[in-house]
Amino acid sequence: MSDIHGVSARATALATSVRAFIEQAVIPCERATLAHDVEALDALAARLQPLARQAGVWGPRLPSEQGGLGLNWRDAQPVLEQAGRSPLGPIALHCAPPEGPNITTLAELGTPAQCERWLGPLIEGRIRSCFAMTEPAPGAGSDPRMLKTHARRVDGGWVIDGHKWFISGAQGAAVAIVMAATDEGPTFFLVDTTNPGWHHLRTIRSLDAWQQGGHGEISLTSCKVGAHDVLGEVGRALEYAQRRLEPARLAHCMRLIGRAARAMEIAQAYVIERESFGRRLSEQQMVQAHIADSQIDLQAARLMTWQVAARMDAGLPVKQESAMAKVFVSEAISRVVDRAVQLMGAQGIAHDHPVAAFYQELRAFRIYDGASEVHRAAIAQRTLRQQRSGA
Ligand SMILES: Cc1cc2nc3c(=O)[nH]c(=O)nc-3n(C[C@H](O)[C@H](O)[C@H](O)COP(=O)(O)OP(=O)(O)OC[C@H]3O[C@@H](n4cnc5c(N)ncnc54)[C@H](O)[C@@H]3O)c2cc1C
Repeated sequence: MSDIHGVSARATALATSVRAFIEQAVIPCERATLAHDVEALDALAARLQPLARQAGVWGPRLPSEQGGLGLNWRDAQPVLEQAGRSPLGPIALHCAPPEGPNITTLAELGTPAQCERWLGPLIEGRIRSCFAMTEPAPGAGSDPRMLKTHARRVDGGWVIDGHKWFISGAQGAAVAIVMAATDEGPTFFLVDTTNPGWHHLRTIRSLDAWQQGGHGEISLTSCKVGAHDVLGEVGRALEYAQRRLEPARLAHCMRLIGRAARAMEIAQAYVIERESFGRRLSEQQMVQAHIADSQIDLQAARLMTWQVAARMDAGLPVKQESAMAKVFVSEAISRVVDRAVQLMGAQGIAHDHPVAAFYQELRAFRIYDGASEVHRAAIAQRTLRQQRSGA
């Protein structure tokens, strides 16, 4: 039995269990002291993941043969939204970025030997990974074709040199998927981070504070890898990176809608209690307008996300829909959290409540996985191309 959106009764029940798990086991662990503390976040993940397994909510998108829930995208939506109510939820359920898209990329492109070495431990949550594409200027950022990191063929393998930054999860990652230019085109390499040519220079202190492994700056210096460490085919990394991004964005939308919805609920609780000018804030019409506009934003965000999920489940292309949903959702949830801050007055910016941290954290979503401007340009170009071709 499914609902009108094709979400199964199992997923609806799971979403209820996830909500209870997040309320009871995860939210009590949210402490401001965890912010930017990569070791403490790893320790917490090790403590919460077995609890999530016991509660039957671990690994929403992981295969059931490996203990995951094996959900399709439509079923994952309500589950990931509930998980995303806390920044620690996806970490506890083993569905935090960048692990999910890295696991999918490895499963799709990995050789049996690569999968045996990396995929099993990643799925089980015994190791972490990162994805290294972005570089400081003049290297790759919004335009991945500007790649400066270079790999040259040597006897028995490749030597990689380059500089990467904003690499989520880098501190403590066991393996990195590194994108490097070669004479035959951009290529993915699997780099063991114990490789003497891999240098984790620093964790970049950023607005968002709850990323497992932080956001790292990396130097690759004469980093020798074997021929067997090429992931997929030489020269096809641009195409693979695009394929990796669509599901990555979709999962981000699902999780972060949960965060924005919770921020608004906290603000609503505040305005229900707080009085001003002789009545409760919740009775002021401009306050009600903020609440209504936020519900409209959240509803529209869920529906656009759902459409991408439904198309992905049906195996249909999502290029345009995924870009439109990413722009809309990232901007809608920013508006929602901004209103939550405003409704709470000074309390909205105090770290006594999680709303201030969510406000900071959600800002980045308008930049990563394609900045809003880059998506808008691509959406417009596709639209104009379609009109010109008369399709
Ligand atoms: C929280 C976070 C996590 C990240 N994690 C990873 C990761 O794990 N791995 C990884 O490889 N990278 C990661 N990144 C990097 C991310 O992919 C890049 O920040 C993004 O691609 C933009 O590149 P840039 O920062 O170099 O910005 P630039 O390319 O320098 O762009 C700056 C701004 O210019 C504008 N702009 C750019 N192009 C256009 C255009 N065509 N038209 C109009 N305006 C434009 C946009 O406003 C853009 O924000 C992460 C970033 C953040 C913030």
